[in-house]
Amino acid sequence: MTHVVKVCIPHTHRDFFDYHADGIEPSIGARVWVPFRNKNRLGIVVAISTADDPTRTLKSITSVIDEKSLLPADILDLCQWISRYYQSPLSEVIPLALPKKYRLGDLAKLPVCTYYQLACACEVAHQQLGKKSPRQHALIDYFSSHGLPLSKKEITQAGFSSVLLHALLNMGIVKSFDEVDKPTPMNQIPDAPLPLNPEQTFAVDTICKSLQSYHGFLLKGVTGSGKTEVYLQVIANVLALGRQVLVLVPEIGLTPQLLSRFTARFREPMAVIHSHLNDSERQQAWQLAYDNEVKLVIGTRSAIFTPMPTLGLIVIDEEHDASLKQMDGVRYHARDTALIRAHVARIPIILGSATPSLESLHNCTLKKYTLLPLTQKALSSTPLHYQVIDIRNQVLQHGLADPTIAAIEAHLKQKNQVLVFINRRGFSPVLLCHQCGWMADCRACDSHLTLHRSIHRLICHHCGHTQSLPASCPTCKGRELLPVGVGTQRVHDFLSSAFPDNVMVRIDRDEVVKKQALQNRLERISSGEAQLIVGTQMLAKGHHFPRLTLVVVLDADNGFYNQDFRAMEGLGQLLTQVAGRAGRAEFPGQVLIQTHLPQHPLLNILIQQGYDPFAQSLLTMRQQAG
Ligand code: ADP
Ligand code: ZN
Ligand code: ZN
Repeated sequence: MTHVVKVCIPHTHRDFFDYHADGIEPSIGARVWVPFRNKNRLGIVVAISTADDPTRTLKSITSVIDEKSLLPADILDLCQWISRYYQSPLSEVIPLALPKKYRLGDLAKLPVCTYYQLACACEVAHQQLGKKSPRQHALIDYFSSHGLPLSKKEITQAGFSSVLLHALLNMGIVKSFDEVDKPTPMNQIPDAPLPLNPEQTFAVDTICKSLQSYHGFLLKGVTGSGKTEVYLQVIANVLALGRQVLVLVPEIGLTPQLLSRFTARFREPMAVIHSHLNDSERQQAWQLAYDNEVKLVIGTRSAIFTPMPTLGLIVIDEEHDASLKQMDGVRYHARDTALIRAHVARIPIILGSATPSLESLHNCTLKKYTLLPLTQKALSSTPLHYQVIDIRNQVLQHGLADPTIAAIEAHLKQKNQVLVFINRRGFSPVLLCHQCGWMADCRACDSHLTLHRSIHRLICHHCGHTQSLPASCPTCKGRELLPVGVGTQRVHDFLSSAFPDNVMVRIDRDEVVKKQALQNRLERISSGEAQLIVGTQMLAKGHHFPRLTLVVVLDADNGFYNQDFRAMEGLGQLLTQVAGRAGRAEFPGQVLIQTHLPQHPLLNILIQQGYDPFAQSLLTMRQQAG
């Protein structure tokens, strides 16, 4: 009997294509090479069936790459669910689940690393080298003082060039060997868990009672209420059962502070997965999780696809965060995908947030999730002060009203930190001809192009198209092109000139594309070096601003007028989160909201009564709107 193998070939806009197997029987989830449109393409076997029509002519698989399946059955099922639910062909979904090296055909195994060590005793090595280069002698000493074998990376990081290393290698003074590169369990004694307050105790106990079955928990508490401590203690219980744990955090949430809290608490090796990993790092993290070599995986959105054979718990921090939803390509929501994964795996899932999404609050009302509130702030801080700045009929300087500028000045004078939010990157969202009214629009998708003045380009924030800045209007040749509206760059430029004595940082996706860029900026903020911070909502959560006392929200109106039905919810979450950042133990905090709609009922519910009544009102409105 002949078999028909269904092979999913990445980026072919179909779920799969049929091939003959000709005697070989690949496993489901294994990779194969197949002929496809005169090319040899890599595909993943997603199903095998018996041929219903033996006369049908099919091409045959060229060769099989993986003996056993590479994509585990549960991840393949998850991909199929995403494909159905989000209406995307499987050939778009499966590539999300495989590291690039595996999409290109690399064999599935842990990368090996070459290690170097002295081939003889230190004194012998020095003698053998004779009176040559002092740097080579220094490298011998470095090897000897370090004791353990060193990787090339460690050697170059210590300031020795690879030329030096290879010279010693050629003389036989240093020898090398290859070993699989995997993390070793931590040596140091883990930090003890903190004694929990009653609400935290209740949360940990409740979750730990259902470690053997699917259950959704919504852990709700403001920043600093001790959510992370609850995660840590539940995770400790799951790890003690010998099972793996997956923690998802928002794009910006993966800070060294968070990671060091995890590494300080557990001995189990862990892997971190985020968008800045290079291809080998990504392959390594994936393979370590697949091989059950790491017990803890912490990652951003795409980490939901990590294969974890003994997964026992999923934690999603900041479950309301927009970065959990992929907004291009396959538009999947990592939270909802995680719920499906937990359900199928029959394991608990914890969603944590200070400002849960309306969907999650509603699911608590429906008793689909168990709500676990944390109402006491573990670290006390003074209450804060919201102030609405009515900007109707006010002159604005680059988006800022005079009272706002005065407040910024007052807080800076006291040597405090000020955070200015504007949820728009670039200099200005529209470039307009003063003479004829022409506006710079995207050729590809018709939206307005955003002016990025520092790089002299116009960029479409919808489709990514970019073009150079015209010197004059293409329609009337007029030379007066006006930037209309404000973005982070413009606010940054204006505030830099208005407050030249203060150190200022800007945080948005344009500024922090590079791996280290965000870290540098965050460090300058937490050290107190930077006093004035301008950023998009990338900044709403998770960072320590030691002297932050004023938060300014410039474009609150965007939340009222936006076509996105979740915009108002997002504004409420943003205001609540930033409010949680202002004001520390010693300094009272203030939040300024600039708006043309100071009487907006929902805004007033939010600032007078808080997020919960605000969310309830929005839920009622959604229900009324059907
Ligand atoms: P969240 O994740 O809700 O922001 P964290 O778990 O980070 O809250 O807690 C905020 C701070 O309070 C941390 O410094 C943490 O160490 C401390 N903390 C949390 N729970 C307790 C507790 N039960 N006793 C003392 N300190 C606590
Ligand atoms: Zn013109
Ligand atoms: Zn466009």
